[in-house]
Amino acid sequence: MKHSDVRALAPVMEVFASIQGEGAYVGEPQTFLRLRGCPLRCRWCDTPGSWRVRAADRARVGGRELADRDSAWATPFQAACWIKDAEAGALARTVSVTGGEPLMWPEFLLGLRSMVGERRLHLETAGAHPETLARVLDVFDHVSLDLKPDLDLDAPEEERMVEGEAPTSPTRERAPRTRAEWSAAREACLALVRDRDACGKIVVGGERAPADFAALFDEVERVHPKLLVILQPATPIASVPAPSRALLEAVVDLAAERGLATRVLPQVHRYLRMP
Ligand code: SF4
Repeated sequence: MKHSDVRALAPVMEVFASIQGEGAYVGEPQTFLRLRGCPLRCRWCDTPGSWRVRAADRARVGGRELADRDSAWATPFQAACWIKDAEAGALARTVSVTGGEPLMWPEFLLGLRSMVGERRLHLETAGAHPETLARVLDVFDHVSLDLKPDLDLDAPEEERMVEGEAPTSPTRERAPRTRAEWSAAREACLALVRDRDACGKIVVGGERAPADFAALFDEVERVHPKLLVILQPATPIASVPAPSRALLEAVVDLAAERGLATRVLPQVHRYLRMP
């Protein structure tokens, strides 16, 4: 693939060095490459500013202080340069590609591997686009699947994701719309990561009941029972309270009944007051 290929561009929201606060690699110093664009609408989304791509958007890059670049749109080479800028001469870190939904931009992801050299490359995805995940899977050393109970999902809004003129289009794979489509997409993604370094992450909001997670756990048990499942208590926001201890323990028990390995981990970067 030619890296000047316009299809390999992706809209970058921010590039910054920090500590991984979630998932199986929690605590590891990583450099985060956050891409814009997400057709999904998770009720507890903590980055709604990443949903849309606007002409006036600029990538923000840096260490402690982030500075605007001329544009949001970047080639894999440009993104690799920004990753080095964000690390400011420190040792190369694992790069975590997050969003938004990174699977919107498969050509960019495919080009990124050769641009970041020997570093580990991690992917954080909602697991809603299995065909696209299958295309890019070999690029990544670790995949973190955000598994979402149906009640945490609103209808996707892909039609309005990119506003105005854009140099490239997102993946053509449509986001799931119905419960059956969501279940099929999750199961396909779980099957894809069966022999990979991967984890599943499930946010537990305080307004949920234990039974709300049963269908998700059934899917994991059916398709990938060895997957490490991280239960992440929701960081309270206006509409989503933190879960009680009783709820967390009931959800842990529900997973254990199915033989699933779980870890309960809050968003550690929030406690550290890091981005
Ligand atoms: S997939 Fe991520 S960015 Fe998109 S709505 Fe859900 S939490 Fe937010």
